[in-house]
Amino acid sequence: MTSEELLSASEGSLEKSLRPQYFDQYIGQDKIKQELLIYIEAAKNREEALDHVLLYGPPGLGKTTMAMVIANEMKSTIRTTSGPAIEKPGDLVALLNDLEPGGILFIDEIHRLPRVVEEMLYSAMEDYYIDIIIGQGETAHPVHFPLPPFTLIGATTRAGTLSAPLRDRFGILSHMEYYDEQDLKEIVERTADVLNTQTDETGAIELARRSRGTPRIANRLLKRVRDYAEVVGEGIVNEDIASKALDLLRVDSHGLDTVDQKLLMTMITLYNGGPVGLNTLSANIGEEMETIEDMVEPYLLKEGFIQRTPRGRIATAKAYQHFDLPEKHL
Ligand code: ADP
Repeated sequence: MTSEELLSASEGSLEKSLRPQYFDQYIGQDKIKQELLIYIEAAKNREEALDHVLLYGPPGLGKTTMAMVIANEMKSTIRTTSGPAIEKPGDLVALLNDLEPGGILFIDEIHRLPRVVEEMLYSAMEDYYIDIIIGQGETAHPVHFPLPPFTLIGATTRAGTLSAPLRDRFGILSHMEYYDEQDLKEIVERTADVLNTQTDETGAIELARRSRGTPRIANRLLKRVRDYAEVVGEGIVNEDIASKALDLLRVDSHGLDTVDQKLLMTMITLYNGGPVGLNTLSANIGEEMETIEDMVEPYLLKEGFIQRTPRGRIATAKAYQHFDLPEKHL
């Protein structure tokens, strides 16, 4: 193994230990956990596969982790893949054929499945079979593939772009929410434990407050703050160290990163607060429209920095106050 391979293997196992394995370690998303626990218990009692689950919400909120927890709670095996990785019907057949009865197939970014593959999923999900055409021209003939009962867990950042026939075949639809400060604080403390890093209460709160409601960001920032604490401080992540390290990373007091800041400042300074269209914003700040819609806007909307109107996005009074700018005069 090269040192790079060793490093990525150790990062892989670190990532694994950071992921909660069962519901009692999975912090937050209480409503989803409560519901799923009931459905899982019922499916186990009936010795049936769990109904298909769709998890949707912004990246980094724990959809993949939730899928793995479900598999552990069901005592099922899980295979993970993603929409763009399943290029043709044969790829899907191979994946489904490989599942054990009651097994779980996790498809991340399910909104990016090719249309032909998506259509094959309909009968697979509903009646556990797939019909495919084998051969070409005169030798082409349909083959009927029965499948073992299985559970499909789909994850997507954009439930709205999923076709209705696919969405309707999920029996359990779970909307993942941004985490509140208390939950994120617990996540930071748990991760600090896994990383063998000392945090005090104030340090964990400061990180939680500035993590954009997102566990993946909290974990990433904690690693950088830890570096800062070890080199500049005395190894302990307290409020002062966290605050200085996050300032250095240009994460502001509300957790907004440079892209959030750029987006808001563009709206305010170039477009007098809007309304401004998504494509104009995308060209101005150099980020894909999809990235803005999936990753940037949802948090800004939730926190009330922007509003969507039929004529475009507008920056709210809160956005002006955030940057200490006088509010625009209408
Ligand atoms: P998604 O699939 O929604 O993009 P992931 O499941 O990959 O998100 O989670 C991102 C990171 O955040 C992982 O390292 C995971 O361990 C951590 N994480 C997510 N949700 C939680 C949670 N509820 N409690 C603790 N850690 C979490």
